[in-house]
Amino acid sequence: MGVSFYNFSDLHHQSFKEKILSRFKDIVDNGAFVEGHYNNEFEKEFAALQGVKHCLLVANGTDALEIALVVSGVKPGDKVGVPGITFYATAEAVLNIGAIPVLVDVDYVTGLMCPDSFKRVSEAHELKAVMPVHIYGLPADMKAINEIAAQKNIAIIEDAAQAQGAQVHTGPVGSCGNLTTFSFYPTKNLSAFGDAGCILTDNDELAEAIKVVRNHGRGDAEKFGRNSRCDHMQAAVLHLKLEEVDKFNKSRKEIAATYHSELKGLDLDLVDEKFLQTSAWHLYPIQLKDASTREALQAHLKSKDIGSTPFYDVALSQEIPMKNCEGEKEVSEKKAGATICLPMHPFLTRDDAKTVADEIRNFLN
Ligand SMILES: *Cc1c(COP(=O)(O)O)cnc(C)c1O
Repeated sequence: MGVSFYNFSDLHHQSFKEKILSRFKDIVDNGAFVEGHYNNEFEKEFAALQGVKHCLLVANGTDALEIALVVSGVKPGDKVGVPGITFYATAEAVLNIGAIPVLVDVDYVTGLMCPDSFKRVSEAHELKAVMPVHIYGLPADMKAINEIAAQKNIAIIEDAAQAQGAQVHTGPVGSCGNLTTFSFYPTKNLSAFGDAGCILTDNDELAEAIKVVRNHGRGDAEKFGRNSRCDHMQAAVLHLKLEEVDKFNKSRKEIAATYHSELKGLDLDLVDEKFLQTSAWHLYPIQLKDASTREALQAHLKSKDIGSTPFYDVALSQEIPMKNCEGEKEVSEKKAGATICLPMHPFLTRDDAKTVADEIRNFLN
């Protein structure tokens, strides 16, 4: 019996399906297809859950990043710090608004932005903003990053696309005073039936500015915005899923703890156990000591019907659009070759996690 990487059928179980279909029926009957009452209810409840004043739904996680950059005052030609390990949408958002990504290096095991590298990069470049990413669901060191950014007046946009359920030093991710963005793409911890995203902020003016930009600039006679509204149906799904998301994140934590105890002692680098409670465990990454064995390990797992992915097998600096990018990238490039992510979703059992760990042990011995 194998272990799948994702599981959507248990996520959308029978009673969920019945509830969502009844919501869809109401929406169709009432003809309110964009920015309906579920948008308002979700925004209010999600802001409360994450410990901030405002949540603004937008069309997807990349738009959330672009709009956050724009309302932070980042202009074409400005430099923005991005970590060397991330899903490339983080850097794509910077390029899409005509700004210039500058690479900040990461911690070798977690892939999180390294505060020391950020400090050096912020001294060598005039950064207008920085985008720490809570990659794999692990919380970045926001205390250190906030302190460095404050000294140089650098705006912070936290990319929490993978981190619904993570804890930073002030509480839930998003609660430490920075603009924070989420994606609700179907694979994320909190997910829509397609594309959606949001931006969190405590700042009333920024919240108003985001509302204007996401709806074609309506409300500002001097500027156009864009269309990044969130469909009512997606908001209805997200709002309904709020009922179960904590339970599902708790179950991810239990699987991570099982992986940790089963894999401890093997010839691997594991994420430190201090993250067991604070990570959202969107993914469970391990670092191989010998990068050249990665393909063989994946093949071995596949032969046992166990899913795995090499997220992220390419550092941002190795992507073609980032070829001439400045900044620091040594650790990111070294790390990218040796990471593999194990199956992670809320419906894995402890036995599933043990099966995966057993096969990794068999492979390494
Ligand atoms: C998924 C993701 C995004 C992009 O979100 P979309 O909704 O696909 O636009 C951005 N950053 C990170 C780290 C992601 O994982």
